[in-house]
Amino acid sequence: MALHVVMLGPPASGKGTQAVRLAQSRGIPKISTGDILREAAQSGTELGFRAKALMDRGELLGDAEMIGIVNERLARTDAANGYILDGFPRTVRQAEALDRMVHTEPLVVIDLAVPDEELLKRMQTRRVCSGCAAIAEPGSSMDACERCGGTMITRADDSDEQVRQHRLDVYARESKPLLDYYRGRPTFRSINGAQAPDKVAKELAAQIDQMLAVASRKRS
Ligand code: AMP
Repeated sequence: MALHVVMLGPPASGKGTQAVRLAQSRGIPKISTGDILREAAQSGTELGFRAKALMDRGELLGDAEMIGIVNERLARTDAANGYILDGFPRTVRQAEALDRMVHTEPLVVIDLAVPDEELLKRMQTRRVCSGCAAIAEPGSSMDACERCGGTMITRADDSDEQVRQHRLDVYARESKPLLDYYRGRPTFRSINGAQAPDKVAKELAAQIDQMLAVASRKRS
């Protein structure tokens, strides 16, 4: 059964880290809209140029553009057996569009809940690979990426205090309403994302297995 997962949660809640682990263990791609935009910015495309200006200020790109990007990405063959979406949807309009794109399988929606003080701390200390976008283990002081050997850097939108706070404000205004949008569904779960990454991963895997078991019982 194809697995379609949406990872919700504020910036630095651990969505990216957990999405990578889950994608690896289930053999399906992680699709991160932030990574797609950062790649476009590195390649110097017109989209990348516009995206970088907005990302560096902690603003969101427009819904129509993001919906178009994700629609195209989900149509690629590697997404045929499912995917983990990280960073999309970020608004209710994006969520409505996603519901129109995915109607064969239930969408598993995972919210990672983390208090604001912890998020601000994580954003300030987070380091990512400039080459492959891998996220360093918290507290790691390695200068080279363990995966590809690339240089570990601080993301531009993590390096400014005002932008860090602004992203939390944008999350509260634009993305928190998604919790009400999804909360009533039987495939929605909220997990305490302030726990150690291994613990979050374990809980996440258990919740997904339980939801898949219920779904396959209903089918048979
Ligand atoms: P992330 O890596 O998910 O933290 O995303 C980094 C930045 O990319 C965000 O702060 C936004 O500027 C932009 N972005 C990523 N995903 C979306 C989206 N679904 N809608 C609008 N903007 C997005």
